Amino acid sequence: MNIDFANLKIAYQEHKEEFDEAISNVVSSAGYIMGPNVLDLESKLQEYIGSKYAISCSSGTDALLLAMMALNIQPGDEIITTPFTFIATAETIAFLGAKPVFVDIDEASFNIDVTKIEEKITNKTKAIVPVSLYGQVADMDEINGIASKYKLPVIEDAAQSFGAKYKKKKSCNLTTIGCTSFFPAKPLGCFGDGGAVFTNNKVLADKMASLRLHGQTKRYHHQYIGMGGRLDALQAAVLNVKMKYYDNDVLRRQNVAEMYTDLLKGSDIKTPEISDYKTSVWAQYSIRVKNRDEVQTKLKENGIPTAVHYPVPLHLQECFKYLGYKKGDFPIAETISTEIMSLPMNPYLTKKEVTYVCNQLKN
Ligand SMILES: *Cc1c(COP(=O)(O)O)cnc(C)c1O
Repeated sequence: MNIDFANLKIAYQEHKEEFDEAISNVVSSAGYIMGPNVLDLESKLQEYIGSKYAISCSSGTDALLLAMMALNIQPGDEIITTPFTFIATAETIAFLGAKPVFVDIDEASFNIDVTKIEEKITNKTKAIVPVSLYGQVADMDEINGIASKYKLPVIEDAAQSFGAKYKKKKSCNLTTIGCTSFFPAKPLGCFGDGGAVFTNNKVLADKMASLRLHGQTKRYHHQYIGMGGRLDALQAAVLNVKMKYYDNDVLRRQNVAEMYTDLLKGSDIKTPEISDYKTSVWAQYSIRVKNRDEVQTKLKENGIPTAVHYPVPLHLQECFKYLGYKKGDFPIAETISTEIMSLPMNPYLTKKEVTYVCNQLKN
């Protein structure tokens, strides 16, 4: 059996006619930048998430940049985040000259350990950036509680958790600003790069909308130093099709995750834990194994692709050497990074395929 990790080809084939028509309409209209598809998508996103404002942009990375720029993050500012995430979370902090201040993770959820945040707050701290890793929201009530005590904004890196629920509210609408990504392999992916920011604050919304258009307030009048951060009309057209089916895609992912968890019960493989008051959109289904290299090799030989999200925690990345962290600073993130392994996850996996993967894992 040969199993596909994200199965982006089926994702296209499943609604091929609709995608082809949507793309062809953009191309023949020659309206490639902004326009009706982008506006339509933004209203769909806003309605789906339930925030007051949704602003599309060029990627999840640029969404983080827009959020931090809107909050006026300056060189020398400190921003608290997790070391167990994709590089973009901390890279954008450093890109603005600010300093990522890492906090170890919680072993059950792989998200930032909320009991260790407060001790890292100084008079230079300007924001907290939790990541909702693998599709499950971080402990947002606790994080928001600490943030309001110190009057800090919170930016949710929701690149992997678009639409996940937290106590009946949706990821992206839980903090000052929520940032997501439409990179093809994310739960809601387009056919290239894309992203969005969400907020309930009109001032921040207006500023982010302007920042993504070179800081302009009207054509060729620039109030801020901004960026070229728009979402392509083509990608918006693709996402307008995908949004129709997103809830069903999430249900199918959740079903696949349930099958994995059931079938792996009783083995010595550690499966993911989701809190009662949260749902996951399963950007990844990541298990913990002690002999990861061996397991990956064996699965690969049997037609099962796997991936490691992420093999090196950010405090040990070469680009962050200047921050002065060392091995041992965040023991949980370090241990998890040696054991974590993502299994194939997409809406199209069949019971037969999931059973096959689990049997290979257990033997
Ligand atoms: C994918 C991802 C990003 C960046 O999104 P892009 O659209 O690829 O720029 C940021 N943070 C996390 C946690 C991600 O998984």
